[in-house]
Amino acid sequence: MQDINSFKKLLDKPKRIVIVPHVNPDADALGSSLGMASFLKKKGHEVKVISPTDYPAFLNWMKGNDEVMVYNDGNESAANDIISDAEVIFCLDFCSLNRIDKMEQPIREAKAVKVLIDHHHGKEDFADFECWNTKAAATCELIYQLVVDMGEQQLIDKHTAEALYAGIMTDTGSFRHPNTTKHVHEVVAELIGLGADASKVSKLVYDNNSLNRLRFIGFALSERLEILEEYNTAYFAISAEDLSKFNSRTGDTEGLVNYALSIQGITMAAIIIEREDAVKLSFRSIGDFAVNELAAKHFEGGGHKNAAGGISRVGMKETVEKFLKLLPEYEKQLHSNQKKQEIYLT
Ligand code: 5GP
Ligand code: MN
Repeated sequence: MQDINSFKKLLDKPKRIVIVPHVNPDADALGSSLGMASFLKKKGHEVKVISPTDYPAFLNWMKGNDEVMVYNDGNESAANDIISDAEVIFCLDFCSLNRIDKMEQPIREAKAVKVLIDHHHGKEDFADFECWNTKAAATCELIYQLVVDMGEQQLIDKHTAEALYAGIMTDTGSFRHPNTTKHVHEVVAELIGLGADASKVSKLVYDNNSLNRLRFIGFALSERLEILEEYNTAYFAISAEDLSKFNSRTGDTEGLVNYALSIQGITMAAIIIEREDAVKLSFRSIGDFAVNELAAKHFEGGGHKNAAGGISRVGMKETVEKFLKLLPEYEKQLHSNQKKQEIYLT
């Protein structure tokens, strides 16, 4: 945050505050939103978290979950009133307003002071205060640091610490991705010091599967995973029918793409999912291969170098064809990156 003193001043007196995570919030988006909400409430503010859409049930344990308003759950009109009446709006874990779906227009038009806290690339210039660092592993890491910089660490209780811990844990792939820095470990050590139970959070997030979900993962791995050795690429294509066959719920496909990336010799992994309104794509990569650039160029998307996503509006079959057709454009990069990895790992 460039101007921490003005930011502190903004929050000096009780205000009406709205907090917004990105569409389909993950643990970092929801954890940062509920963590920030709890912190701001302790400072005496009136806070409402409004999520553009629903999110996976394995995040429901976070304190404050019951009070989250889901915008597209028939709450549009009530939410719009709260947004237009807000004095401050926090935008968390996204940096361009097209990441909040139908909330884009009301948030854009709101007269409130806007605060952006995020670690993604492709920032739009819309906020009055920015705490934006693409080198940070998670928005939760940025929020923890911001609260420390404000000198108000004592307002982080056990529940807030656990929400923030969850965001850092998942965005670093359980402290395995290259974004796992010394600072990340320092922050989580502090969070544990503030009462976060690391083992409990890990169990709540990762060991909360329905049998349907496990069966679905088994099906996807055996029937829907394709390997394109010549492009060091692996992908899943999951149809709407596949999802309904396994009674798939929000979040059931999360993490699946990582199995594809774990295969020897794979530089890029993708999952292409036929959702109700569009086809959703998620990309993962290793090393220098930047999937956020591919997602931005071909699928209206973005994200991080090694984890990105996008959408396609041309139907499932056409989307898979489009993805396969663009691979030759990246063939050299996909190969050379794999070679570099082999050297790096020996
Ligand atoms: P996931 O594949 O887990 O949904 O997302 C991976 C990363 O890419 C996350 O940081 C997420 O915020 C970002 N991302 C996913 N989908 C989109 C998208 O459609 N547009 C943009 N700009 N970023 C996305
Ligand atoms: Mn994040």
